[in-house]
Amino acid sequence: MVVVGGGLLGVCCAYWLARRGKSVLLLEREYIAAGATGRNAGFVLPTTARSYPDAVATHGVDVARSLRRLAIDGARLLADIVADEAIAGAHRDRGSVHLALTDDQALKSRQEVALSQADGFDESWLDRRELADLIPTPLGRRIVGGRAVPGALTNSVAVVDGIGTAARRLGVTIRTGVRVGSVRATGSGVVIDTSGGPVHATAAVIATNAWLGELVPRLSGVVRALQGQVIATRPMPEVFRFGMTAPLTATGEYWHQTPDGTIILGGCRAVTTAPSDPAAQVPQPAVHEALQTVLPRLFPEIGPTPAVRGWAGAMAVTSDELPVVDEVDESVWAVGGFNGHGMSYGPIIASLLADWICTATRAPALAPLALDRFPAEERAR
Ligand SMILES: Cc1cc2nc3c(=O)[nH]c(=O)nc-3n(C[C@H](O)[C@H](O)[C@H](O)COP(=O)(O)OP(=O)(O)OC[C@H]3O[C@@H](n4cnc5c(N)ncnc54)[C@H](O)[C@@H]3O)c2cc1C
Repeated sequence: MVVVGGGLLGVCCAYWLARRGKSVLLLEREYIAAGATGRNAGFVLPTTARSYPDAVATHGVDVARSLRRLAIDGARLLADIVADEAIAGAHRDRGSVHLALTDDQALKSRQEVALSQADGFDESWLDRRELADLIPTPLGRRIVGGRAVPGALTNSVAVVDGIGTAARRLGVTIRTGVRVGSVRATGSGVVIDTSGGPVHATAAVIATNAWLGELVPRLSGVVRALQGQVIATRPMPEVFRFGMTAPLTATGEYWHQTPDGTIILGGCRAVTTAPSDPAAQVPQPAVHEALQTVLPRLFPEIGPTPAVRGWAGAMAVTSDELPVVDEVDESVWAVGGFNGHGMSYGPIIASLLADWICTATRAPALAPLALDRFPAEERAR
């Protein structure tokens, strides 16, 4: 079997296929975690990318519940892999608080909490006073309250390196610096054309996320690249003991503090309309500047938070904010488009995909992620 792409999905697919006894070759054009996995903020969010009420309105209550359970199971599975494979120092069991900055946002958040609780999901509303008890710097006047959700914070590079090491122990061959040019079903197997020559395999998984359309042209209109950008500050005394988000700009901001006190903060996508190629993963100066103003605007006494580093990554998004997992040709599967939620959904979807490949049976939880949910025009675009 060949897996294309050395991000979380590719490495997890290789790991689960090897655990099910398959012989696996993973091909990555750069290095492990060169894409979104190595550039993300490390939130492991056990929630749908859309708000839960929006997910219910879009997909119906049964599918929305199943999708949310999948994210919860995925977050738990990631923690289990980290423990089973003894991946040190990479994972912290810390939830996140999603701030509301207006009364209208607070109302929507409280409605989300109520609907989630009614469906048995763990979340709660914290008013301004309760938040102030948890955050040891004065809250800016705009902060009304926050929605607290369990979850984890992770060092994605350490996690994916650790899973890659475990996969190698299970017999997976990982080749980096090998670009795949095409993946073709032959009727009796699959031919993968690579920069190192053709490779023949019984089956292939294409896990190239924002670059899926290059290898599966009918996915180019379905899974689109979107630039995400992040800064890291110098280490500071602990202020944030959990992950946090705030809708300060239209596309939202998110941050947390690592064990050494560094604040990792992303967002501010909406501050620029300058043309850029997200797949190139090159930071935009206007976004870099704006990210440094986020915390001083929300917490006026925190002081300046200058960036000591900044980077950009290619997120992969879809029109309904759900990933795609499907067999796109005979014995060729494609997976990607995680809409900023790959760290929770990724490990479990990789596991269910490995089951599908090994047993020829698709788990019911994957049915809402099929490619045919998109209209033909979107697939052909
Ligand atoms: C700035 C930013 C912040 C984010 N924050 C979070 C977060 O906090 N929580 C969360 O859950 N998610 C977050 N995400 C999204 C998360 O990173 C992704 O959902 C996840 O990493 C997807 O993993 P992947 O393996 O599908 O894709 P990727 O990690 O992008 O891996 C795809 C790989 O395929 C390789 N590749 C591409 N084309 C080829 C080819 N032709 N041949 C060989 N190899 C190829 C690439 O080099 C790359 O290594 C964020 C993303 C970004 C960009």
